[in-house]
Amino acid sequence: MIASISISEKVVIAERDPAAGRDHAFHPLRIARVVDETPDARSFVLEVPPELALALAYRSGQFVTHRVHIDGDSHLRCYSMSSSPDVGDEFQVTVKRVPGGVVSNWMIDNLRAGDVLETTCPAGVFCLPPGDDDVVAFAGGSGITPVFSILKTALATTSRNLRLLYANRDRDSVIFAAELERLAERHPGRLTVVHHLDADDGFVDEQTVNHFIDGAGGEHFICGPPPFMDIVEHALVDFGAPEDRIHIERFHPVESKPATVDAAPGRVTIELGSRVDTVDHRPGTTILQTARQMGMAPPFSCESGSCATCMAKLVEGTVSMFVNNALTDDELDEGWVLTCQSVPTSPSVHVVYEDA
Ligand SMILES: Cc1cc2nc3c(=O)[nH]c(=O)nc-3n(C[C@H](O)[C@H](O)[C@H](O)COP(=O)(O)OP(=O)(O)OC[C@H]3O[C@@H](n4cnc5c(N)ncnc54)[C@H](O)[C@@H]3O)c2cc1C
Repeated sequence: MIASISISEKVVIAERDPAAGRDHAFHPLRIARVVDETPDARSFVLEVPPELALALAYRSGQFVTHRVHIDGDSHLRCYSMSSSPDVGDEFQVTVKRVPGGVVSNWMIDNLRAGDVLETTCPAGVFCLPPGDDDVVAFAGGSGITPVFSILKTALATTSRNLRLLYANRDRDSVIFAAELERLAERHPGRLTVVHHLDADDGFVDEQTVNHFIDGAGGEHFICGPPPFMDIVEHALVDFGAPEDRIHIERFHPVESKPATVDAAPGRVTIELGSRVDTVDHRPGTTILQTARQMGMAPPFSCESGSCATCMAKLVEGTVSMFVNNALTDDELDEGWVLTCQSVPTSPSVHVVYEDA
């Protein structure tokens, strides 16, 4: 069956995700300022030239991908905006050191005001849904970055009440501690921040989360280290929070590709912009890899099924998706797939990248 994509569907997609239909090029953005947040985290305030203002418009909770060149190698890493587009903030990302990490340490040690950072347009679906339900957020370490942006937006543009459980190693590693306090003061009774310090209380466990949830409903946001996220997610599910009210942003790739893939040998057709190409499928190769083998430059970012930058519409055939931490059930029903995680499972597969 070959389905066509109507114009009205494209409009819906553009409304849902402002990054849809944008370019995926890297734009050189000048660093206006570097802000020391904690001993191991820095924010980079980026200048957005007027001609890129529209392309770089974003929703709180979204991220960009930076391309950096270190010792002759190029590296791509995603960083969420800690700024909010709804409160007059300058465009800002916040990077925390990962022990032994190539890019985070390089950025913190080397980048200075005046340097240029290659940056994609914003992407991602970890955003505040419409409505006025309360927000219950869980952040660990650098996971505060998109959550901080969402909190600022929710306070400024809605009447929602917000609760944040914020876990950190110790007091010195709490990013945005003073800003969060100021926000709570400026919005009396609307923002409650509960700090959890591992140094004092051990790691967050299910009991900590249950105590914090304490009957609260609403939209739940989780971002932090994998064990923290797993504990919070399980607690919320056990508590009965509906799946579509649990929003998760994973900073770490989820390694779950099976060693063998039940992929059907056959033909793959990929549409990107004005190009339409068909090739024989190499078993185990994802749609994204196939597009690259065709010489196309498809959109991508995290390559771990988290960001939705590589999403495309499956208009014929079937695929198996290893990891999906980005697409909603509705999007899956509409035929969207994450091409970085999808391998064909039917003899003929046809995929259309909407960003044309
Ligand atoms: C959508 C998205 C948004 C992100 N937003 C932010 C952000 O706002 N701020 C931020 O600081 N980071 C953010 N990250 C993480 C960031 O992209 C990098 O993964 C992180 O900075 C580590 O990169 P690195 O090159 O220093 O480490 P690498 O050299 O890639 O990794 C070194 C080792 O550390 C592990 N590792 C990777 N990331 C982490 C981590 N966060 N904590 C602990 N171990 C890790 C890796 O698995 C690897 O074993 C985001 C990631 C995604 C996918």
